[in-house]
Amino acid sequence: MSNMRKEAIKQSMNRATINVENTGGRSEIFGTHVFGQDRMQQYLTRDALNSVNAAISSGSKIDRRMADQIAEAMKAWAMSMGATHYTHWFQPLTGATAEKHDAFFDLMADGRALEKFGGGQLVQQEPDASSFPSGGIRNTFEARGYTAWDPTSPAFIYGTTLCIPTIFVSYTGEALDNKAPLLRALHAVDEAATAVARYFDKNVSKVLATLGWEQEYFLVDEALANARPDIVMAGRTLVGQDAAKGQQLDDHYFGVIPQRALQFMKELETECVKLGIPVKTRHNEVAPNQFELAPVFEEANLSVDHNLLLMDIMEKVAQKHHFKVLFHEKPFAKINGSGKHNNWSLATDTGVNLLSPGTTPMKNLQFLTFFVNTIKAVDTYEELLRSSIASASNDLRLGANEAPPAILSIFIGKQLNDVLDELEGVSQGKLSPEEKTELKLNVVGKIPEILLDNTDRNRTSPFAFTGNKFELRAVGSRTNCAKPMTVLNTIVAKQLQEFKKEVDGLIASKKLKKDEAIFNVLREYIKSSKRIRFEGDGYSAEWKAEAKRRKLSNNASTPEALKVMSSKETLDLFRSMDVMSETEVKARQEVELDTYILQTQIEGRVFNELVYSYIIPATVAYQNTLIRNVLGLKEIYGAAHKSFTDGPLNLIEQISEHLEQLKKNTDAMVEARKKANAMKDIHKKAFSYCEDVKPYFEEIRKHSDKLERLVDDAAWPLVKYRELLFIK
Ligand code: ADP
Ligand code: MG
Repeated sequence: MSNMRKEAIKQSMNRATINVENTGGRSEIFGTHVFGQDRMQQYLTRDALNSVNAAISSGSKIDRRMADQIAEAMKAWAMSMGATHYTHWFQPLTGATAEKHDAFFDLMADGRALEKFGGGQLVQQEPDASSFPSGGIRNTFEARGYTAWDPTSPAFIYGTTLCIPTIFVSYTGEALDNKAPLLRALHAVDEAATAVARYFDKNVSKVLATLGWEQEYFLVDEALANARPDIVMAGRTLVGQDAAKGQQLDDHYFGVIPQRALQFMKELETECVKLGIPVKTRHNEVAPNQFELAPVFEEANLSVDHNLLLMDIMEKVAQKHHFKVLFHEKPFAKINGSGKHNNWSLATDTGVNLLSPGTTPMKNLQFLTFFVNTIKAVDTYEELLRSSIASASNDLRLGANEAPPAILSIFIGKQLNDVLDELEGVSQGKLSPEEKTELKLNVVGKIPEILLDNTDRNRTSPFAFTGNKFELRAVGSRTNCAKPMTVLNTIVAKQLQEFKKEVDGLIASKKLKKDEAIFNVLREYIKSSKRIRFEGDGYSAEWKAEAKRRKLSNNASTPEALKVMSSKETLDLFRSMDVMSETEVKARQEVELDTYILQTQIEGRVFNELVYSYIIPATVAYQNTLIRNVLGLKEIYGAAHKSFTDGPLNLIEQISEHLEQLKKNTDAMVEARKKANAMKDIHKKAFSYCEDVKPYFEEIRKHSDKLERLVDDAAWPLVKYRELLFIK
């Protein structure tokens, strides 16, 4: 057996569980490492506190004098907690988070050292931005990007560093990150939803989008993972024969969490709680070594930050427990991949969940308004929503057996379908008193009791209504939720704006009562968005055909899915809602395409290495053993050898065939890559990687996996699925 594999197996089998001490109650440590309201009250003057809170609630600017005070207080608190450095923590366009650490320390002109951190460092920082992807917004010679504190997300201490959540913009004001557009989208949905919510309650003055994500991931022993070049370089296994046992017994799902993993989770959760991440549930997922963690939902911007922070903490805590955590959407073939469901809703500052049915017909009309508008928004912009979760790795998961297809559709359950069907029959224009009573009593008034027993849950739907929120299930485990959340909130904002215009129009021109106007507009929306509603099996082949008849998009690959980003409709949408300029949208499209190309390119290179440096040498060596065996048999038995050598000869031939195909496909893949690399147009290049290069991956894998079955286990150089997934 190859030394690396042997060594890795030995290490992982001898691993001792690292026991984690129980910490006190969660409430005692919750948020101790966050500069939240408690600490601000303790450390800030009243004026400074008011200024931060005004910035949080209404987006007002914090003036420089206040910024100095706040920075001073933040520094004092951070140093009292043992922090030595500070960093502006931001979300570059390529996914993960980035930080640049600076010490709380400056030299004065006379050479004395001084602890320094002023308002200037808090609200504006100029990192050397030249190496962050910007999709051509900023030429590298103008390498200036600014980061500025986002006060809606509190600063926190991680290790010995004070982390300040920031937006990242170019010197001309264009967003270079994922946070700035999200904040603008949240502002847009706040304005539009508040205006509509005020039809029902004049006391509403703010609407917050809420997000509760569910993070799936795999834990693999560090030594085993590190012995696989594909996991190290590409985050997934590119080859590997599936183990005799996969997930078919379902013995892992909701089973007892293995000891080592449990200790990891314990420590992880303590870290999360200190940082104010309200983690709540943990359990095994369907596949072996797959787990899930979910918090209580929060305001969407904070929730996005918390998810990014969580992924970062997970990697660090995993290291301590000698695990590697895999966020890849499909790290292993033939077993489930990992997603990150995004549960989303809208909540008013009066404490009402706008997607939760209420106790009176009027409250239910409010619920129906937001419910139907969301459906209509997703119907209009289904392709854009699909684009927001596109990536090379998520392409491998969507439409596989465990994840929703690449076709966006909405599941709402039978009872709500019945309600919408009834509303479709509402009369045009004014409603008779009888019709109004009928609607109130038997349609709108019936909703709460209906939803309580609305237990049918369709797991195959990419966008499902689950009683008091929608759940977007197509998001990949590695995706920054800011991307789908920016799109979802923008399209709902746009839709609510249209709705308000139409309702006000009917009230003014047709002299309709408010509720009559609302019923009239909703009726039309229900009719025109019907195609997006689907209650059946999203995994089935029939749905693909049916979706095609309904003219829903089915963009299976990332280059295809990203096309819509530069359509006139998309650009108009983002511009009209003040979320992104044309330059900003196109820059993001370019970065996404580039990331797709780079990831596929890396996988291609790793294939090359695996085939030539691992699989071929090991296979040839084993084949030589067989050849020596045949030669030996011939020598001993002379002419009578045939009855003994048929078996080994046949094996030698099978191996030769697969070796031949393996090499042929790998070489052809390298040629295809060269052609793709020579392309200047980034769209064409991405398509070429998708259509000309990627198809070879499956072929190469097929022959490699056949060889893995033919070659002596002791001679196989790569850690096997059985070892990666079942050594605990
Ligand atoms: P389940 O779907 O497993 O029955 P829940 O309905 O409690 O569980 O919620 C699942 C996820 O939805 C959790 O992450 C939770 O935080 C989130 N969630 C619940 N209510 C909301 C809401 N109003 N807005 C956003 N997310 C929510
Ligand atoms: Mg879920």
